[in-house]
Amino acid sequence: MKLLQKRFVRKTPFNFPQRAYKLASIDLESLIGQNIQGVILDLDNTIVSEDDRYLSPGAEAWIEEAKRKGMQFFILSNGKRRYRVVAWSERLGIPAISPARKPFPSAFRRALSRMRLSPHQVVVIGDSRHTDMLGAWLVGCSSIQVATLPHPFRWWEKLLGKWVQVPYHAKHELWDLDPF
Ligand SMILES: [Mg+2]
Repeated sequence: MKLLQKRFVRKTPFNFPQRAYKLASIDLESLIGQNIQGVILDLDNTIVSEDDRYLSPGAEAWIEEAKRKGMQFFILSNGKRRYRVVAWSERLGIPAISPARKPFPSAFRRALSRMRLSPHQVVVIGDSRHTDMLGAWLVGCSSIQVATLPHPFRWWEKLLGKWVQVPYHAKHELWDLDPF
């Protein structure tokens, strides 16, 4: 537990942690207090597992709360099943770009200009270092990495998993996805 805490409390130049276990455990007030006005969100294994089995606990309520407080959102998904990203974009009421080809900066820049925000006003939240975190760094946004929801791992994820993602512990709460 100590080790977990140590891993999850590293600070950015901003005064919020660089990692959080799940979206809903990110302290909204601390984002708002540091003039963060927009969130670029990853979808797969951050909000919902890519096989549509699990939902990140409390994620939808967290997003609603953040919107009520004036936060803007944008989804960037590398998922190739566009219909799925469209369905989630509608369900969450958040515009989306898919496939976003993260970490390349062009989709990040489009999201920033659509939100009319500059990089220092936006935090990127996602589960993968090589796409979400790297992309955020390339465009100058801050970022928060969440643990990756359980999903069938690809061969390269099995190989590189611990370098690119933080696994979701079995003992942590998980929500089954309710049907649309
Ligand atoms: Mg992801």
